[in-house]
Amino acid sequence: MEPALYIVATPIGNLGDISRRALEVLSGASCVAAEDTRRTGQLLGAEGIKARMIAYHEHSAPQVAQQLVARVAAGESVALVSDAGTPTISDPGYRLVRMMQDADLKVVPIPGPCAAIVALSAAGLPSDRFAFEGFLPNRGEARRRRLELLAGAEATLIFYEAPHRILATLEDMQAVMGGEREGALARELSKSFETIRRAPLSQLCDWVRSDANQSRGEIVLLLSPARTDATASIDPALGELLRGMAEHMPARQAAKLLSTYSGVRSRQLYDFLLEQRQK
Ligand code: SAM
Repeated sequence: MEPALYIVATPIGNLGDISRRALEVLSGASCVAAEDTRRTGQLLGAEGIKARMIAYHEHSAPQVAQQLVARVAAGESVALVSDAGTPTISDPGYRLVRMMQDADLKVVPIPGPCAAIVALSAAGLPSDRFAFEGFLPNRGEARRRRLELLAGAEATLIFYEAPHRILATLEDMQAVMGGEREGALARELSKSFETIRRAPLSQLCDWVRSDANQSRGEIVLLLSPARTDATASIDPALGELLRGMAEHMPARQAAKLLSTYSGVRSRQLYDFLLEQRQK
């Protein structure tokens, strides 16, 4: 194998989601740098792969990363895996990637599951613009402050959350953004109890409160974009013209074109068209 650091995505539940390329890299690499060698050992064992493993996690001493860089510099191939999903996404590894790049060494991503993207793909929320927010602060006050900062975001927001905090976080979201704002809860993705539900925050809160099973397992929370109220602020004649144009060309193109002549932001015109289509 070509000397490089390979960022290998692994399943987030269903072992069938491992890619052929991931298996090739894991079996061919000189060593596998794993967040948890026991857990990765189970995955490799299930695939019949024998590999030399090195523990590399959040608390690893800087020398471990330096040794991994030295291995690649000496012509070895190193596969980086986390407990599940894509390494470096809310998981250790991005510093190691930088160190490799700074040493002019190759970094090769091996694509595969990532809970945030898997959840977004099936949540039924707008996905043309989204922001990954990772984990919110654990403590109530800090969490609410962060949510207040995010309340006006015009993109779908994606959060990871621990099961024992899910209700408190949903309640904070409701308090900050209002119970009408739509959210989605994606739980145990690709596993036996996979559950994906999109509903206004008030309903999600009631549902989680009344069913303890919804606070179990691994969870991704998503929030719909803040309403821009594009409909309310667009002149009716302009709106009609825009709707007419969008019948003959893609919505984005119509919004851009009309923006040039009207001076109204293209994003606002585009949101207007989206809102109209939802009605
Ligand atoms: N690197 C991983 C990825 O690409 O998805 C994420 C690692 S992060 C430490 C772990 C969090 O991801 C969990 O707490 C949960 O919020 C989310 N997660 C991981 N697997 C999941 C699954 N099968 N279903 C729902 N959420 C999941």
